[in-house]
Amino acid sequence: MDDQVIAQLRESGALLEGHFLLSSGRHAAQYVQCAQVLQYPERAEALCRRLAEQIQAASGEARPYDVVVGPAMGAVTFAYELARALGGRGLFAERHPEGGFQLRRGFRIESHERVLVAEDVVTTGGSAREVLAMLQTLGIRTTAVASLVNRSGANAKPFGELSYYRLLDLEVPNWTAEACPLCQEGSTPIKPGSRPQASA
Ligand code: ZN
Repeated sequence: MDDQVIAQLRESGALLEGHFLLSSGRHAAQYVQCAQVLQYPERAEALCRRLAEQIQAASGEARPYDVVVGPAMGAVTFAYELARALGGRGLFAERHPEGGFQLRRGFRIESHERVLVAEDVVTTGGSAREVLAMLQTLGIRTTAVASLVNRSGANAKPFGELSYYRLLDLEVPNWTAEACPLCQEGSTPIKPGSRPQASA
């Protein structure tokens, strides 16, 4: 199953091999950009359906969540597609200029609704935790987080005692610039996804 997911990510360009400069400043030999696979609706649908089946099996319910909410922009498509597979509503939270996330555009979640937080790739889980904090201030209890890819480590608990569902645990070796073996081989890291498409 992991192999099939990895193959889908590779084929769509969502999983890149090379020498990358991460936003943390560390260097890595792989880079994950889930937007690359989620741009194909049929692939997004298949991956989210598979994840939804896992969530449904674990909860023992066909419709375990009423609302799926993800942090914009990265998780907009993912939250929507996962909501479709789970038969709920798909919302996104937006970054507040003064920090944290907020629900805008008239989005509302009622206190009785069961909410799943969705983030396409969890590295530290920071954005998802900020959405969880926002939900808490709204008086909404959240019991689970879901992602396509977990990069925080197979045994890590980035969300404490909350259930954490994901399709794939992916260990991406990464190093400080000084310790990077790829730099020592003489190659120069590139910043992935930072260059917009050139206009015609
Ligand atoms: Zn390097």
